[in-house]
Amino acid sequence: MNNETCLFCQIVNNQTTANILYRDQQVTAFRDAHPAGPTHLLIVPNKHIESLNDIQDEEESLIGYMFSVARKLAAKEGVDQSGYRLVVNTRADGGQTVFHLHLHLIGGRRMHWPPG
Ligand code: AMP
Ligand code: ZN
Repeated sequence: MNNETCLFCQIVNNQTTANILYRDQQVTAFRDAHPAGPTHLLIVPNKHIESLNDIQDEEESLIGYMFSVARKLAAKEGVDQSGYRLVVNTRADGGQTVFHLHLHLIGGRRMHWPPG
């Protein structure tokens, strides 16, 4: 279920180097190459899913699982108490640039609202 031209599939399959922090049967987490804060991780499903739009109802547990992994990584990164932001950019208006579903975990600095 992987897409050979997809950057995040390449990371999941070790075909491109990335700073991988966590990996299991369902997800892979690695550091964002252009961090928006002292901590900036991406949590991605190992399976190629283009965006949140492409999640099937029967896959909804994957979304919960991605949040659960994010919660544990936030603690591991030491930002759980100071706080952090989880973001899923979806398609053009959401600012999505890589079309493989991913959850951003950003922390280590004070965030602003509304986002730009
Ligand atoms: P989005 O704009 O939500 O699609 O986020 C894509 C993210 O992927 C951006 O924050 C990029 O900095 C990040 N990114 C792009 N290429 C790489 C890469 N090779 N390794 C790690 N992160 C990347
Ligand atoms: Zn992919």
